[in-house]
Amino acid sequence: MEVKTSLLDNMIGVGDMVLLEPLNEDSFIENLRKRFDHNEIYTYIGSVVISMNPYRSLSIFTPEKVEEYRNRNFYELSPHIYALADEAYRSLRDQDKDQCILITGESGAGKTEASKLVMSYVAAVCGRGQEVNKVKEQLLQSNPVLEAFGNAKTVRNDNSSRFGKYMDIEFDFKGDPLGGVISNYLLEKSRVCKQPRGERNFHIFYQLLSGASGDTLTKLKLDRDFSKYNYLSLDSATVNGLDDAAVSLYVLSQNAMQIVGFMEDEVQLVLELVAAVLKLGNIEFKPESRVNGFDESRVKDKNGETMEMCELLGIEQSVLERAFSYRTVEAKMEKVSTTLNVAQAYYARDALAKNLYSRLFSWLVTRINESIKVGLAKTRHKVMGVLDIYGFEIFEDNSFEQFIINYCNEKLQQIFIELTLREEQEEYVREGIEWTNIEYFNNAIICDLIENNQNGILAMLDEECLRPGTVTDDTFLDKLNTICAEHQHFESRLSKNSKFLTDHSLPHSCFRIQHYAGKVLYRVEGFVDKNNDLLYRDLSQAMYKATHSLMRQLFPEGNPAKVNLKRPLTAGFQFKASVGGLMRNLQTKNPNYIRCIKPNDKKAAHIFTDSLVCHQVRYLGLMENVRVRRAGYAFRQPYEPCLERYKMLCKQTWPHWRGPASIIVHVDVPIILLMPTLFLCPQLFTLEERRRACLEDLATLI
Ligand code: ATP
Ligand code: MG
Repeated sequence: MEVKTSLLDNMIGVGDMVLLEPLNEDSFIENLRKRFDHNEIYTYIGSVVISMNPYRSLSIFTPEKVEEYRNRNFYELSPHIYALADEAYRSLRDQDKDQCILITGESGAGKTEASKLVMSYVAAVCGRGQEVNKVKEQLLQSNPVLEAFGNAKTVRNDNSSRFGKYMDIEFDFKGDPLGGVISNYLLEKSRVCKQPRGERNFHIFYQLLSGASGDTLTKLKLDRDFSKYNYLSLDSATVNGLDDAAVSLYVLSQNAMQIVGFMEDEVQLVLELVAAVLKLGNIEFKPESRVNGFDESRVKDKNGETMEMCELLGIEQSVLERAFSYRTVEAKMEKVSTTLNVAQAYYARDALAKNLYSRLFSWLVTRINESIKVGLAKTRHKVMGVLDIYGFEIFEDNSFEQFIINYCNEKLQQIFIELTLREEQEEYVREGIEWTNIEYFNNAIICDLIENNQNGILAMLDEECLRPGTVTDDTFLDKLNTICAEHQHFESRLSKNSKFLTDHSLPHSCFRIQHYAGKVLYRVEGFVDKNNDLLYRDLSQAMYKATHSLMRQLFPEGNPAKVNLKRPLTAGFQFKASVGGLMRNLQTKNPNYIRCIKPNDKKAAHIFTDSLVCHQVRYLGLMENVRVRRAGYAFRQPYEPCLERYKMLCKQTWPHWRGPASIIVHVDVPIILLMPTLFLCPQLFTLEERRRACLEDLATLI
C-alpha cells in the first residue's frame, strides 16, 4: 500500500515517530517500511533508536559518516546509530554521566552488529595517541575472539551469540579510553555436544579445521575433515557468506588474539583444549561383563582418539579411563565407588566436554580482561557499558537454554518498561502535570513467575534438584503444575498473572509461558540435569592431575586437598544472581536504547514482512513508547546540573541557591536556547508557565 503523498515524502517517511501523523500501528509500520525501502534503517522514538536489520552492507558506516555525526546534536541529522553513540559519549565526557547502551531485539535482529557499530564509533571519536590507540584496538578485537568461541550458526542467525556479553568501557576525565571489563553470561554449552538440525557447533571448531595450517593440525592431532568428528554437525557445516578459513587466519594466527594480548604459546594452549573437546566426542564405550551384578563400561579406543586426547591434555590414559568407568561419591566419613554403565559413561563424557569448553570460554574472557583492564588509577573513571546478549528465542523445541535466554530478555524489557513507560509517566503525575495515563503491558509478573524466591519456576527447579530421592524432569513438571494449580485455586499471584499456561492440549512433558514476546512451549527434558550441571568428581580430579597448564585453573574443584562436599550452586541460581547484578549495574547508568527489529525470517535483504515487524513492534512496546513520548516533554533535564551550569547568570542563584534542587525541568527544546532566569528561579513560575514561555521563546528564535 502506498502512503498518501505529503510533504514528508521527500524526507523518506518521518525520522522521529513522535512526529508521525496520524499515529497508529499501521502508519507506524508503514513508516518503518518506507524508510527501510530507502535504506533508512534507523528511526527515532525521541531518544530511542529503532534499528532495522538490512541484511546487507550499506555505505552508511564510513569514516566520513563518523565525521558527519561527530559533535552534532542528536536531532540535527537524519537518524543514525552514530547519533546515539555520539550523544552517549558526549554526555559521558562533558557531563560526567555514566552511560549504558541497551540493545534488545530477537535473535537475528542485529544486536551484535549494533554493539560493534557503537564501539567502533566511540573508538573513532575518542582520544588519540599510541597508548590510546592500543587500548582501542584491544577493546575492538576482543569481539572477533569472543565471537569465534561464543557464536554459532542457528536457524535464526548465521552468527548467533550463544552467550551474554556486557562490556564496561572506562574513560578518563578527558574522555580517552583507559580499558574495559567484560562480563559473560551463561554460554549455551549443550551446543558443544549436540546441535539442533540445521545448526552448527561454535564457529571456532570449523575455523580451526578449515583455516589452521597443516602443521598446526598435525600438532593438534586433528584431521581437516569435519566428518571425522561426532560433535560437529554436518548438515550445515558451511555457512553462506562465512569463510571459516579466512576468519580463522585472522582470529587465531594473525591478528585478533595477539592484539588482545595472547602470547603465542597461550594460543597454542587454547587450541589444544579445542582439539581435546573434538577428540572427546569421538571416545566411545562398550559394555563390560557384569561384576557383582552391576553394568560396567570400558573405553573402546579403537582408533587411538583417547590416547591422543590424553596426550593433548597431558593426562595418563589409565587415569582418564578409570574416571569414565567409575563414579565415587564422598560423604563425610566414607567414599563409595560405583561403576558407570555405557549410557552413564557417555553422559560423563559429554559433561566433561561441555565443562571443558565453557570453562575455557570463561578463561578467555578473564584473560582478555587481564589485557584490557584499567591499571590502578586514583581518579574515578567514567564508564560506558554496552550490553549485547542473546535475543529472545522461540523454537519448535525449547529447552532450559531458551528458558534462561528468554528470562534474561524479560529482565531487559522490564528495565525498558520501568524507565521509559512507568517512571516517566509517574514523574509527570508527581510533578502535578496534567497527564492521561497510557496503558502498557508490564512484564514484571512474568519476571516474578520465573524468579520469585519462594515459588518462582527457578526456585522450584532448584528445590527439586536439591531434594533427596528420585528426581526427574517429570517430577519437576508435576511440582510446577501442582503449585501453579494450587495458586490458581487460591486466586493468588500466579493465577492472577496467568502467564503460566496450563491446558490439556499441552504435549507430554511440556509447560508453556506467555512471555512478553509470545507464548513459548518448553520441553522439561534436561531441565534438572542442566540446572544441576554435575561433573563427576572423578573427572574433575582427573583433569586437575593433567599437566596441560590451564587445567588446574579450569578444574580447581578437582584439587584432592580441597575436597568440597557442598553441592555446587545450580546453573539457574548462578544465572539469576548474575543477571540481578547486571540489572543493578545498568540502573546506576544513564540508559540509551537501541531496539533492533528483524524485517523477515529468511535472513534476506530487501524483504519487509509486515506481520513479523508488527509482532515485534507490539511486544517491544514501541507504540506505547511513542505515545508516552508524544504526550510528554521532549527534553528533560534534572534541575541540579542546570543550576550548576547557569547559576552565575542570576542574582537569586549566585553564589548560592538555597531552594529545592531536585526538580526535573521539562521543556520542549534544549535548555541552551532558553532564558536561563526562567529555569533558575522555578519558584517564580509554574512548570506550565515555563513551558509556555519556552515555546514563545523558541518561536521568536525561529
Ligand atoms: P543473536 O541474538 O542471535 O545473537 P543478533 O541480534 O545479535 O542475534 P546479529 O548477529 O547482530 O543479530 O545480526 C544478524 C546478521 O544480520 C548479521 O550477521 C548480519 O549479516 C546482518 N546484520 C545485522 N545488522 C546489520 C547491519 N547494520 N548491516 C548489515 N548487516 C547487518
Ligand atoms: Mg548477537
